[in-house]
Order: sequence, then C-alpha cells, then structure tokens
Amino acid sequence: MKVKVAINGYGVIGRRVADAVSKQDDMELVGVCKVSPDYKALLALSKGFKVFAADDKGVEKFRKMELPVSGTVSDMVKEADIIVDATPGDVGPQNKEMYAKASKKAIFQGGEEHELTGFSFVAQCNYNQALGKQFVRVVSCNTTGLCRVLNALDNRFGVEKARVVIARRAADPDEIGRGPIDAVVLDPVTLPSHHGPDVKTVLSHINITTMALKVPTTHMHLHSLIVQLKDKSVYAEKVREVFRHTPRILLVNSKLGIKSTAHAYDLGREIGRERSDIFENIIWEDSITIEDSELYFFMGVHQEAIVVPENIDAIRAMFNLESAEKSIEKTNRSLEVKSSLT
Ligand code: NAD
Repeated sequence: MKVKVAINGYGVIGRRVADAVSKQDDMELVGVCKVSPDYKALLALSKGFKVFAADDKGVEKFRKMELPVSGTVSDMVKEADIIVDATPGDVGPQNKEMYAKASKKAIFQGGEEHELTGFSFVAQCNYNQALGKQFVRVVSCNTTGLCRVLNALDNRFGVEKARVVIARRAADPDEIGRGPIDAVVLDPVTLPSHHGPDVKTVLSHINITTMALKVPTTHMHLHSLIVQLKDKSVYAEKVREVFRHTPRILLVNSKLGIKSTAHAYDLGREIGRERSDIFENIIWEDSITIEDSELYFFMGVHQEAIVVPENIDAIRAMFNLESAEKSIEKTNRSLEVKSSLT
C-alpha cells in the first residue's frame, strides 16, 4: 500500500517535495494546493498533478483562468494520509487545526516554531524518534546542514563546542522584491542568531553559538565553522574520512575550480539535477584544517533543496515504513544524491 501524500503550498519547497514524492515507490501524490492559478499551477497540471485551490474563492479564480481545479484544500486533505505543509512560516498553526480535525498526519517546515509540533526532524539525527508521530517539523535549510555535520562529528570525535558564522543568501531566485542590493546586513545584530538554538531542537546536547549575515546573493548559504572536538588527536584527513562516509555530504575541492557558491551551484546544473538542486551539504575538503585542536571548514547549503530528502524520510518514519538506514538509502537513490563527484 502506498502512502497518499498531499502538498499544501506549492512554492520553493512544495514544488520540490511534490516532485520527490512522485519518485517514491511507496508514496502516491494526491495533489497540490495553490493559492493562485499562475504558471506554477499550469506546469503542475502538465505534470499530471491534481491541483486544489486554497478556498472557494480560489476555485473561482482557477475557473476564470480556465485551469482545471480538483476542489479546495479540504477536499485534498480528505484524500490524503499525510499533508506536507509548505506554506510560508506562521501559516502552519491554523492549518494544523484543519489537519487535526480531519485526523491526518502532517509535516511542517522550518519557518514554523518548534513548539508547533514539539518535535523537529533531521533524518540522520533522530529518525527513530519520529516513528508513528502525527505531527513533525522538518527544520530549516541551515539547521538541516548544521545538524548533519555536527551529528557526524559528535558521533565520531565528540563535539565540545561549535561556533558558526553563516553568510545567508538574501532571497530565493524568484523573490524579486527582497534582499539587500549593495550591503551586508547583520542578521540580527544581537547575538546569537536563531540557528544555534534551532540546532538544539534536534541535537539538544550540542554546545553551539551562531552568527548570521545577509549577503546579496540568491544561490546558497555559506557556513564558516569552527569546532572544538573532544578527541584532541584528530587530524584533517580523519575528518575528511568521516565526511566521505556520511550520507548527504559531498566533498568538493578548490583545485577542481570550485571556489565559490556559484561554482557549487553550477555543479547542480552540470550533473543534470532538476532546478540545479543540491540536496547534499557541500564541504570544501581543502578548507578542512585543524589548528590548536580546533577544526575549521567552509560549507555550502542550497537553501531551496537541502530539506527535500528530509521531508521524504519524515513521511516514511511517521508511517513506520522503513528503518532509518533503509529510508535514507531509498530516498538518496531516488533523488540521485551523491557521496562523491564522480
Ligand atoms: P514560498 O513562498 O516559496 O511558497 C509558499 C507557497 O505557499 C506560495 O506559493 C504561497 O502562495 C502558498 N500559500 C500561502 N498561503 C497559503 C495557504 N493558506 N494555503 C496554501 N498555500 C498557501 O515559501 P517557501 O520558501 O517554499 O517556504 C515554505 C516553508 O519552507 C517555510 O516554512 C520556510 O521557512 C521553509 N523553508 C524555506 C526554505 C527556502 O530557502 N525557501 C528553505 C527551507 C525551509
């Protein structure tokens, strides 16, 4: 039996999760809910997806544009076993009431507060704790990237303390009205930024402080990490070895000409990914340095894509379909997630 999945909110994240769901052999896409009958709705229909409107007025808008509409969001919810809610941050609480009334499971995204579900998810860190849950929050892009690497380092060497400076992309590529044009914006000025506390919603024992800056780019976030490890005998090659064997981490090297987030993003195009998506943490292996027992490295996070595999794994965990290892492996195979460039 396939799990019936509906997507509420068909923007940056919703579109990608819908495509990823339709690639899974144990899931079926019920449809997607769109507010406006725009080109994204038209293209969803051309993929064979059923499109639902947010409300009755929305149905009228679709009819006026002569786009087929399968009903409202409540019709979509009725047909689904689980809803992946990818509406903008803070819309989640009212939608949660709708899902709860219909006795459905739901996944929310990182723009919502941890308290909305009381459980925040990153597959490699806490898959087993999500087994059977009704509501799960998949954490934000930056938190997902940080949890993957800190969990790997902590399991192998012990993390004493992590300090991270995040250069954040100011806007996603289609957000034409947002973001600084000629400035680096302290985000926020008072410290720490919210990212460290958010990591603790998944890895409560990790000692972490984060600072963030918004920079005028749309492609990726760039993290500069400084990590004190408990094991003081660690050398750089040992760290590279751990990352090589951690799922969803891709080591790249500046000697191959990958010297910026633009080059990292270009990899997505060159390896033929839909929408140039990079699901992996990009880590520059030649930045990995140990000095005075502290580990330093640079890491890129493609904000639009990194949480997509986590949404798929969260669905499997909530329906107890597979073990963590098997689910991660299945998701990685379906999305062609890489562990090396070749
Ligand atoms: P988005 O604005 O690109 O997409 C949201 C979509 O939901 C839009 O199409 C909007 O029209 C629609 N929508 C708004 N209200 C709705 C409603 N009531 N019912 C149905 N649809 C509705 O947003 P996004 O970037 O995809 O973000 C979605 C969530 O994912 C947020 O919680 C965000 O914080 C999180 N997230 C975003 C990114 C990112 O970089 N874009 C990365 C990780 C997590």
